[in-house]
Amino acid sequence: MSSEQSLPLIEDETPAGGFAQRVCGDTSSLDRKSLTTLQINVGKLCNQTCEHCHVGAGPHRKEIMTGETADRILEWLAASDIPAVDITGGAPELNPGFRRIVEKTRALGRHVMVRCNLTVIFEPGMEWLVDFYRDQRVEIICSLPCYLEENVDTQRGVGVYEKSIRALKLLNEAGFGPPGDLLLKLVYNPVGAHLPPPQQALEEDYRRELGERFGVRFHELFTITNMPITRFSSYLKVSGQRESYMDLLRSAYNPDTLPGLMCRNLISVGWEGTLYDCDFNQMLDMAIGNGRPLKLWDTSPEDLLGRAIRVGDHCFGCTAGAGSSCGGTIA
Ligand code: SF4
Ligand code: SF4
Repeated sequence: MSSEQSLPLIEDETPAGGFAQRVCGDTSSLDRKSLTTLQINVGKLCNQTCEHCHVGAGPHRKEIMTGETADRILEWLAASDIPAVDITGGAPELNPGFRRIVEKTRALGRHVMVRCNLTVIFEPGMEWLVDFYRDQRVEIICSLPCYLEENVDTQRGVGVYEKSIRALKLLNEAGFGPPGDLLLKLVYNPVGAHLPPPQQALEEDYRRELGERFGVRFHELFTITNMPITRFSSYLKVSGQRESYMDLLRSAYNPDTLPGLMCRNLISVGWEGTLYDCDFNQMLDMAIGNGRPLKLWDTSPEDLLGRAIRVGDHCFGCTAGAGSSCGGTIA
């Protein structure tokens, strides 16, 4: 299919004074430079209901990728040379097709990252998970919004901290984390309406606290800014902080983050196979396509390069301060 027929060149729906205008002052457009990662969101089912969740995930969500959709995505992946796949949800492990997606992706020789909430390891019927991760040599990226119990349980639910530490110990025992080469990374996001602290200093704090108190080891810590969308947006509204948080993000706008925005080198596919510039756009129903959402299998990787990215004011969450992406800070 021709990209000229199928994909719009510019999709700028931001009102005056918004993100698009701000970006235009710094670059002529915000486009996709390369395609190094296919991010697959297999659905909104999760064993937790965290208050900051940009997916609005939870145990009763019914949006789940089917095996047929997964097969079409894997077929598309096989025909591409995209080197890395980032699997997310919800808790992606709860999707009945999760194992097959990981196994087939690894069999294609691609690197696999999974966004793991840690507590899913202790869900009924998930006893196989840690060994599976080890055998498939998956990179695990785990949410742990603080090294202090009170803060984690406030944001993610009572008892989550204790389970998360137990899960990290199990992963360490299985060979994840230094000194081994099975990658184990942690993700911090603020407990509240503020920007993350400097990533490197916080990583040192995490390493010291988790190491001294529990003997837990990890390779890297990513700091991620809470996006003003979905469940966190509701929290901001209810607590009367929506405007002040948006003002904070806008005032911290940093043009140096633009070259490293994750939407410039990944593509995000949703549980129905629909294409988005990133997982956040996915949650806002900002699909790629001219009014008619595009499916992944209706494009080729070449179609997606050089295309303008759909932006909105939520993008200030990625450009504030040191920036924010699924791999932590940018600038
Ligand atoms: S933040 Fe992660 S663990 Fe929490 S509800 Fe959302 S998907 Fe689940
Ligand atoms: S939310 Fe962030 S990653 Fe998504 S399109 Fe906006 S700047 Fe790019």
